Amino acid sequence: ITAGVLRERAPGERRVAIVPEAVPRLRSAGVDVLVEPGAGQGGWFTDADYAEAQAAVVPADDIRERADVLLCVGPPGAELSAALRPGQALIGMLDPLGRPELVQTWAERRATAISLDLLPRTLSRAQTMDALTSQANVAGYKAALLAADTYGRYFPMLTTAAGTSKPAAVLVLGAGVAGLQAIATARRLGAVVSGYDVRPGSRGEVESLGARFVDLTSVASGAGEGGYARALTEDEQRAQQKELGTHIARSDVVITTARVPGRKPPLLVTAEALRAMRPGSVVVDMGASELGGNVELSEPDRTVVVEGGVTLIGAGNLPSEMAGAASTAYARNITALLAHLLRDGVPPDGALPVDPDDEIQAAVVVTHQGSVLSSSVAAALA
Ligand code: NAD
Repeated sequence: ITAGVLRERAPGERRVAIVPEAVPRLRSAGVDVLVEPGAGQGGWFTDADYAEAQAAVVPADDIRERADVLLCVGPPGAELSAALRPGQALIGMLDPLGRPELVQTWAERRATAISLDLLPRTLSRAQTMDALTSQANVAGYKAALLAADTYGRYFPMLTTAAGTSKPAAVLVLGAGVAGLQAIATARRLGAVVSGYDVRPGSRGEVESLGARFVDLTSVASGAGEGGYARALTEDEQRAQQKELGTHIARSDVVITTARVPGRKPPLLVTAEALRAMRPGSVVVDMGASELGGNVELSEPDRTVVVEGGVTLIGAGNLPSEMAGAASTAYARNITALLAHLLRDGVPPDGALPVDPDDEIQAAVVVTHQGSVLSSSVAAALA
């Protein structure tokens, strides 16, 4: 079958779905690769690199026409979606729950849309395909570096002839994949790190990285389904914010990563808590979104110095800022998924085989042959 890789069209998106090193692996799984000129530019992958790896570098129109499956990072635009051919497949982090109008188009076009952001996280045979995890790792690492870069003092304790510096006190709120990577990265830079999560099960993971786990007495377990957190009640949220305030005020750097599936990010750091921090402190909100983030006053892709001298960084698309590493990991996730779909061989008609009885495919296949297959997306559309 033929896979097509188009340049990502979303503003500010520098990642690419397939990097040159993934091409030989795809070819041995029976997949030929077409790449749009300049598609890898944002991650410093040149057209010559792709050609050397035996991918064909061809114009976008040819790719749309010839590809049996289009591979992308973020959801395609309305125009590309409307141009999909019946039976043509689309694989990416398609955000079907956030983009119901696109789901409708893919179903109408009778396209097979497969979304990696619906992958069951705890299924061990799906781990190599887990793009949410690979991208969260990049984001958590980058968030810690951004914080260190912005903080006007050292992260480590340094002893020089000019005296000894105190290590930075870093607090990470939300200890999922991104939070744990932020903790590990801040630790490697020498900071004294604490971590907090509403899921009690995260304590062992935080402590195994050499960080202190922050216990709150005011909030009971926030463990929800599937390893995710549940949404807290309003009373619990207020109690959590108040108790966190004490820990925030003692920190030089706070990095927030908290999310609850299908909800707006929980507010953990209030404006009052920001004002109680020392001047020169830094806060990075990885949950920053148009709906509001983990930190009051934060906005995506915006850095502000709040009253009292705290620099508040609203993170944008952090994986895109490390497009080389993020794309390399993402390409492995996509390659693993394609190898799984083609495990019984490549069909002669080029149509990607779909088996709704397979646990992985039942979760990730959004639309197929005109209907919405994913039960979570169907429920959200109803
Ligand atoms: P996520 O991005 O959905 O959320 C980030 C973190 O925020 C989570 O740890 C969550 O508990 C926390 N959070 C939510 N509300 C909070 C609040 N009010 N206060 C403090 N923290 C709050 O999470 P994720 O990184 O996608 O991970 C989700 C789960 O999946 C975790 O249990 C993780 O260990 C698990 N996971 C398992 C695998 C695997 O087994 N292969 C792979 C990846 C993730």
